[in-house]
Amino acid sequence: MTFGQQRAKAHLHRLLQSGRVPHALLFLGKTGWGTLALALEFAQQLQCENPEHLQTPNSKLETCKACRKAEQFVHPDIHFSYPTVGPNAVSTTFAKEWRAAITENPWLDANTWLQRIGAENKQGNITKEECNAIIKKLSLKVFEGRYKILLMWLPEYLGKEGKPAAQTD
Ligand SMILES: [Zn+2]
Repeated sequence: MTFGQQRAKAHLHRLLQSGRVPHALLFLGKTGWGTLALALEFAQQLQCENPEHLQTPNSKLETCKACRKAEQFVHPDIHFSYPTVGPNAVSTTFAKEWRAAITENPWLDANTWLQRIGAENKQGNITKEECNAIIKKLSLKVFEGRYKILLMWLPEYLGKEGKPAAQTD
């Protein structure tokens, strides 16, 4: 772990302990830095029902239900948005591929992902349709978690048509 990663982790830990988690957090890092992995871990920690088992590495305490779901990327209150290909595409269409990809490698990079879903020479995009889907998801009540989380991977892929729809104020 680099010094920067340690600092980011410590900062996130303090947020978690304080219980005052900002409405939105931007995780910014170069490819290979582990930004997605860190965000995934933080999302899990936010939902954890029994943080004691997270506190000690190699802890023998049993993992909680929320963590098990988060680890399998099936927690109903952790939503994902990421670039997709094809007109009008939404992230949930690629949910199976997404889960498989981040299970294999949470240090996933954009090119590997886009190739995996068959982008070839096409550009990835977070579409207007996806932005509408996000608004819909975020208007739902929390199902079982402590927070409702949307993890958007690579927001720079929000196309120009995505931006107006993504503004909620
Ligand atoms: Zn847990």
